[in-house]
Parts: sequence; structure tokens; C-alpha cells
Amino acid sequence: MEFSSKLIEKAVNEIAQLPGIGKRSALRLVLHLLKQPKEQTSFLSQALLQMREEIKYCKNCHNISDNTICEICANRNRDHQVVCVVEDIRDVLAIENTGQFRGIYHVLGGKISPIDGVGPSQLKIPTLVEKVKNGHIVEVIFALSSTMEGDTTNFYIYKQIVNSGVTMSTIARGIAVGDELEYADEVTLGRSILHRVPFEKSFKNN
Ligand SMILES: [Zn+2]
Repeated sequence: MEFSSKLIEKAVNEIAQLPGIGKRSALRLVLHLLKQPKEQTSFLSQALLQMREEIKYCKNCHNISDNTICEICANRNRDHQVVCVVEDIRDVLAIENTGQFRGIYHVLGGKISPIDGVGPSQLKIPTLVEKVKNGHIVEVIFALSSTMEGDTTNFYIYKQIVNSGVTMSTIARGIAVGDELEYADEVTLGRSILHRVPFEKSFKNN
């Protein structure tokens, strides 16, 4: 793509680095911004910069947060003895949208995937194991996507905490194998949390 302006070219190239956006879409966005009042671009770039500079991760669950402890962890009305283990922040949003879960979360930051070079040490597993061993948790719910990587991650954590006496369950598989939680509809996801099954039963059947 040839541009008559280096400035346009630079903006297009930056935007085109975002996932799911090709150069054509990037150009459309840039031209759109040019038609808008200048402040619009200013608000957009300020919002992005501020988000990047000031975002925090909850000390307790690693969810994104504006404070050191996220709103979910800080909420006394939530059941702090029930912890739902998820891959990333999108899963927290998906489960929160169901309105069916009153416990708290633990965000791993991914799943074990040797192909992608992600090992257990890159994930927030130790803080989860520590929480369980401190004895404040009654139930751990595994809510990872039902892929091989998800199963591997569940099983890795299971082995670390199996002797701690904590109840372990997994979300019911109304969600098809290989599906990402994010794409499950709210009703299905909500049900799969309510009708969760004991974790050991889930993998012994396989
Ligand atoms: Zn939190």
C-alpha cells in the first residue's frame, strides 16, 4: 500500500499491528479520525496512554484493576472461600456477565502450552497453591477452556493441591471441547458453573 503521506503511513502501520486489523481497516480508521474534530484523537490517545500507564493487577487474584485489590476481591459480599481459576481477564468478564458466580477468581495469565513455550513458571500458579495451602479456600473451580492445554494446566494444579483437602470441581461441559469460555453464551456458561462436577470425576471418565 502506497501512501502520499508518511504521517498517514506511520499511523496506519501502528494500528495495523493490532490483532484482527489489516492495513485496509487501519486506513479506514485513520481517515475516520481525520474527519473527526482533533479532540477525538486526543481523547483516544490519552485514554490508551493512561490505561497502559496506570493499569494495575490485583495483588490477590491478578485480575486487572484500578487499585491494588480489584473490586471483586474487595467485595465483602462475595464468597472468598470459593475460587474460580481462569486463564485470563476475558474469562472473568464472561463469567461475571452470567451473574451466576458469587465467589472470587484466580487469573493464571494463560495455560501451560509447551508448543508456545509457556511453562508453569510463567503462570500465576504458585500464588494459587499458596492460597490453598494457607487454608482459606474451601473450593477451587477449574474454568479453563477444554483444550489439551487447559486440561494439562488443570491437572498440573490438581497435583499440587490434591493433598490439601480442598474441594476441586470443574465447570460442567455444556461447553464443547475446544471452545473458549469467552465465546460461550451467558446462559450456557452460567449453567456450567452452577452444575459443576467434581474434578476427579471429570478426568477419570476420560
Ligand atoms: Zn482480585
